[in-house]
Amino acid sequence: MLEPATLQDQIRDFLDPQGLHAQQQRVCTHLIGCRAEALGGLNGRCDQCGAEQPRYRSCGDRHCPQCQGRATEAWSERQRANQLPVPYFHLVFTLPHRLNPWVQSHPEVIGYLARYTHRIALSNARILGLDDDQVSLSDHDYRDGGHKTLTLDAPELIRRFLLHVPPKGLIRVRH
Ligand SMILES: [Zn+2]
Repeated sequence: MLEPATLQDQIRDFLDPQGLHAQQQRVCTHLIGCRAEALGGLNGRCDQCGAEQPRYRSCGDRHCPQCQGRATEAWSERQRANQLPVPYFHLVFTLPHRLNPWVQSHPEVIGYLARYTHRIALSNARILGLDDDQVSLSDHDYRDGGHKTLTLDAPELIRRFLLHVPPKGLIRVRH
């Protein structure tokens, strides 16, 4: 039976901070604190029944699955909103000029590009669950376009995630 799991849980429970560079440590600290008590927040209170529920702050780190999922959506929405029937099309991607009319008539492509530029190494949607300290991930198979399941233990999952966190000063994608 798979139990629900997130990258945040895995890092909080299994991270070995030895050998991490400063930026990787920062990212891990952010992710562990994201929407958890550590970052503080507000107590929401229902006017009707008086029930209280804490609302903790998000970390806002661009590597964070909880924060970046929303950033991707917001970016995608903004681009769709910009895509009014006007005679130009603006994207930071370099696309062959002749493709522009095609992209304009296929708004779903913008969603795809949003995922591509704002892609984080690992989204929580890919984490299927946890069983016996083994994390199951859905893995895209680029050859046949299908999905398969990849199983890793938590330290290996964290190691692979952190490979995508470059040291400070290096930026992978500009957007
Ligand atoms: Zn976050």
